[in-house]
Amino acid sequence: MPENIQIECSQQFGLSPELFPQIMNQGYSFVDSNGVTVRVEIATYFQSGSISYSDEEQMFEFHKSDPVKAHETCAINRCWAMFDGEIYKCSTVKAFQELADQHPTLVPDWAKEIIYAYKPGTVNDDLDQLDAHLKNPIPQCSLCNEDRPYKNISATTNRIKFYKKRPNA
Ligand code: SF4
Repeated sequence: MPENIQIECSQQFGLSPELFPQIMNQGYSFVDSNGVTVRVEIATYFQSGSISYSDEEQMFEFHKSDPVKAHETCAINRCWAMFDGEIYKCSTVKAFQELADQHPTLVPDWAKEIIYAYKPGTVNDDLDQLDAHLKNPIPQCSLCNEDRPYKNISATTNRIKFYKKRPNA
């Protein structure tokens, strides 16, 4: 971190020098004395998401991927997420369920079946099973993309067509 910013952080905001961020490839990470790490990534690219909206079908579209391949190319396949005291393989699988709960008519039935079959981990789970659940592909990975091309963010003076807002459910 540049010296002038270090001085500002410690003198104006009282940030301990021990917490000054370590520089990573694409950002910073803060590590406290317990090893708790907060990563701040500076994104200069877009990556295609798991879900898109079809104007033609008037519904959300999901992939029908090989779950193992989708899991392999997934940037968050080890980013587990806690919600309401339960642990999820990833935030996406929770987002799928929220989307289906909030907009049931916009999620195809075949996808809902896969989405609602997912059960998060709990404190009562056997540890080996929980470990396998969190580290391996899950059937819901089939709803994500196998191929996730990166597109760099760049400035343009072109007129860009934005898709129209999806209708309310
Ligand atoms: S469901 Fe699987 S492929 Fe999709 S975001 Fe989660 S871990 Fe990645």
